[in-house]
Amino acid sequence: MPYLILSDIHANLEALNAVLVDARGRYDRIVCLGDLVGYGADPNAVVEWTRAHVAVVIRGNHDKACTGLDDLENYNPAARASAVWTRDALTPGNRDYLEKLPRGPLAYEGVDLTHGSPADEDEYLVTPRDAELLKPFLGSPLSFFGHTHVQGGFVLNRGAGRRILPNGTLTLQQGCQYLVNPGSVGQPRDGNPRAAYAFYHPENGVVEYRRVEYDVGGAAAKILAARLPEFLAARLYEGL
Ligand code: ZN
Repeated sequence: MPYLILSDIHANLEALNAVLVDARGRYDRIVCLGDLVGYGADPNAVVEWTRAHVAVVIRGNHDKACTGLDDLENYNPAARASAVWTRDALTPGNRDYLEKLPRGPLAYEGVDLTHGSPADEDEYLVTPRDAELLKPFLGSPLSFFGHTHVQGGFVLNRGAGRRILPNGTLTLQQGCQYLVNPGSVGQPRDGNPRAAYAFYHPENGVVEYRRVEYDVGGAAAKILAARLPEFLAARLYEGL
């Protein structure tokens, strides 16, 4: 049975619900690569759902920012405003849960889970060259990462990196190393506004990339009603 890989939900309950409807009956456990909260207007609902349903979670930079584990110095104004809003909105129990999330990379059933990169949980993996430089840090042939909100990832073949285009399924080849990004559930930034996620089929080494439409208007209206920066609502329509 495959498992469901989610990342960067960012307190977007509408996107999360659409993913769960799309994936229903097709997985037996869920892993999450961090950034449960920040940007979106439903931090408590998303954290409560995660606590009840997700097998393993690592922390993202926004989870740290919203609990005070990270200072907000390197955040742009919209990200900082949403971190402060989220900090106030979280219940003490949910804040405590986020505070105690483990740091990646975390080994899980033969794969590595990381938020940013296996070398640094806050690093953005953007180019094939970024992936090539990580060779000494790769513990297993397959790592899952998030943070960039761009679905796809990278493959290393004899040390040379190549971008993976997320078209349907990816069959892992022996001898290569893979850094796979399922994309962002709650705030895609690859020009496609549909919620992104992936399945991993460990029995035959296949990653399946998925996109699903969700109620963008509903999520955006909640962001505006919470008086979060308008830009955070607008960008959901563009997927940027
Ligand atoms: Zn994120």
